[in-house]
Amino acid sequence: MLSTMQDVPLTVTRILEHGMTVHGTSRVTTWTGEGEPLRRSFKEIGERAARLAGALRDDLGVIGDQRVATLMWNDSDHVEAYFAVPAMGAVLHTLNLRLAVEQLVWIVNHAADRVIIVGGSLLPLLVPLLPHLPTVEHVVVAGPGDRSLLDGVTPAVHEYEELLAGRPATYDWPELDERDAAALCYTSGTTGDPKGVVFSHRSIYLHSMQVNMAQSMGLTDQDTSLVVVPQFHVNAWGLPHAAFMTGVNLLMPSRFLQPAPLAEMIESERPTHAAAVPTIWQGLLTELTARPRDTTSLTQVTIGGSACPPALMEAFDRLGMRVCHAWGMTETSPLGTVARPPAHAIGTDEEWSYRLTQGRFPTGVEARLTGPDGERLPSDGRSEGEVEVRGPWIAASYYGGADGENFRPADRFSDDGWLKTGDVGSISADGFLTLTDRAKDVIKSGGEWISSLALENALMAHPAVAEAAVIAVPDDKWGERPLATVVWKDGESTDFAHLHEFMAGEIAKWQLPERWTVVAGLPRTSVGKFDKKALRKQYADGELD
Ligand code: ADP
Repeated sequence: MLSTMQDVPLTVTRILEHGMTVHGTSRVTTWTGEGEPLRRSFKEIGERAARLAGALRDDLGVIGDQRVATLMWNDSDHVEAYFAVPAMGAVLHTLNLRLAVEQLVWIVNHAADRVIIVGGSLLPLLVPLLPHLPTVEHVVVAGPGDRSLLDGVTPAVHEYEELLAGRPATYDWPELDERDAAALCYTSGTTGDPKGVVFSHRSIYLHSMQVNMAQSMGLTDQDTSLVVVPQFHVNAWGLPHAAFMTGVNLLMPSRFLQPAPLAEMIESERPTHAAAVPTIWQGLLTELTARPRDTTSLTQVTIGGSACPPALMEAFDRLGMRVCHAWGMTETSPLGTVARPPAHAIGTDEEWSYRLTQGRFPTGVEARLTGPDGERLPSDGRSEGEVEVRGPWIAASYYGGADGENFRPADRFSDDGWLKTGDVGSISADGFLTLTDRAKDVIKSGGEWISSLALENALMAHPAVAEAAVIAVPDDKWGERPLATVVWKDGESTDFAHLHEFMAGEIAKWQLPERWTVVAGLPRTSVGKFDKKALRKQYADGELD
């Protein structure tokens, strides 16, 4: 029997139209570093998105599913591009401005970007790349920056504000197929070459609804979310789209991502929620400890992207900011799981242990575990295997293989179409995921696995330790053994024998590292995670410097 329901396409356009009308007075506030922040209502953003779409089509000749890239910080212009480009039927390609230059060139060429919208302050990064980007015909510059850098470049150069001024505040948005491509984002390449993930209108719509569920971020128009997670990092975890659905006000830090300005914007703009990877929060914690501010508005903090050390969670809890741990990846749009404890655990000893997990799978993300020989393992909270997922906002392939077709590498997709996440862990009967490690980070010692995550968490619980990363190094006897790299807190230190003893309470003796090194800072990936690939390279021979 056919249903009698209407079949209305789930598109980014509908999210935009809803946000700019029903939540027209909600605002995107962009930090400018000096003077008043820039404030734009959702209604204004919607009108400016219409002007931008008009300019892209009529002035720049963007048609069909051509790619329009952004090389921008988190700001309101970037939010306009988020809606204008997909709603006109083109594909938004967010460029990760922290990638190595060679990777950026590779990605732009692979995506065949025709237009790049660039934040003025990022011109020094873009301009030297332009001679290597033959597909780029237009550069659109938004916000302050030295335009003279663009003298003599091959692509046509446009001013963002001038383009918008020349076009009407309405646009005849086309009715799109919900399965059409809306946005393209490359994985940050922490574990290999970047791969393109293409989000559809439908996947963005459904993912945004899930972000808004009370058991996910659960924000409303009474909230202001400080979006520290970059807009080039998996659509800022879906927050801009989710905000236009429910009217959540957005506070955008632009390029002011250092702990001091973040603390200042929290104090003066009073966000209720914030989202970022753990390393950002670690820095903010140090800042707030040294120079306390009024951060009482900020009661909810979403931390994900890499495992949140329990010590960090406790420290934020003490400041009145309740940390909610979440897991995901570019291929999962990214949410994933969110660690909100179930009702029966709240107020009991179990609550904390639920909060430390990576979180619970929502409707729409099915998960299963696979053992080393491809065998199915039970979700019993004990069995550990590689996590595989499927659902309407999970990638089914990567963009553009060697033959031009989308491709499904066997190490990332199972024969029956599930995504192999590369993450190893267990799943409880009530759907909570606990990660032991990334498959590539786990330490294989004498045929047993040691979780680098467990060692890092134990180390970071020590009061003298600011940060720690543990990697596998080759060992003649055991195959691999852990090497711990430690960063001391300012003015603090201790000896390794003491750290060893401190961890022994938590960690099995044979898993404790015998190789240690102190470093001034840990290398970071382009999205701010500890860069274990770089560390592994540095200590490839197992020898300490
Ligand atoms: P990349 O794979 O290039 O680092 P992603 O941002 O897509 O870029 O990273 C996804 C990966 O980050 C996951 O597969 C997982 O290993 C890790 N990750 C994300 N969130 C968490 C978390 N809460 N705990 C542990 N690991 C996490």
